[in-house]
Amino acid sequence: MRIVFLGAPGSGKGTQSQRLVELHGIPQISTGDLLRAHVREGTELGARAKAVMDAGQLVDDETILGMVRARLAEPDAATGFILDGFPRTIAQAEGLDNMLQTIGQPLDAVILFNVDKDLLVKRISGRRSCQACGRIFNIHTAPPPTPPPCGGRCSAPVLLQRPDDNEATVAKRIEVYEAQTAPLIDFYTAQDLLRSIEADAPLEQVTARVEQALSVS
Ligand code: AMP
Repeated sequence: MRIVFLGAPGSGKGTQSQRLVELHGIPQISTGDLLRAHVREGTELGARAKAVMDAGQLVDDETILGMVRARLAEPDAATGFILDGFPRTIAQAEGLDNMLQTIGQPLDAVILFNVDKDLLVKRISGRRSCQACGRIFNIHTAPPPTPPPCGGRCSAPVLLQRPDDNEATVAKRIEVYEAQTAPLIDFYTAQDLLRSIEADAPLEQVTARVEQALSVS
């Protein structure tokens, strides 16, 4: 199963990706996570990307496509993948199509997460993740059990808030989504790949909607 999760920041793509990884055993490939790993490891790419990410802007297409090409070549992606937060521009979507065409493995579906825009800022500002395993919580809608904060998966979990999850940067990220990423809705509709779900619902219900959307051929 080769799928793309498309939606504004805070629409729940990351959380649902983590659930699908457990249900289907295919990897989540999040370009945001790959970039944050570069920042943590202090690579040259990470240093370049950090300022752009902190400003809520998009990292350049060439860098992103290079990173995704390398990640898709890893063995665990051979049986399928969930692309989370990628592609984010038409140029990235075209680059992805070329990559997948070369290996004869086209996308199966693109799931669009619809969430009321007014709720996005609240959702993002409540987002926290476990420092050790990356599991996502939300202090408003999906609070961690206390203790231990991430359900005991990590021995000494600490919950972190992303530096770009503050209100000013979130507003910019939503604006960038509308201008540069939302055009992908038409792009994938034209390829007959787009399936839209209402994602403003409890976690389990959204997962059921994703599964339902994926079962429609
Ligand atoms: P995310 O974790 O998907 O919300 O991404 C966090 C930040 O990383 C974004 O606001 C961008 O600055 C950058 N980023 C992640 N994925 C991409 C992408 N596909 N293209 C460009 N920039 C990206």
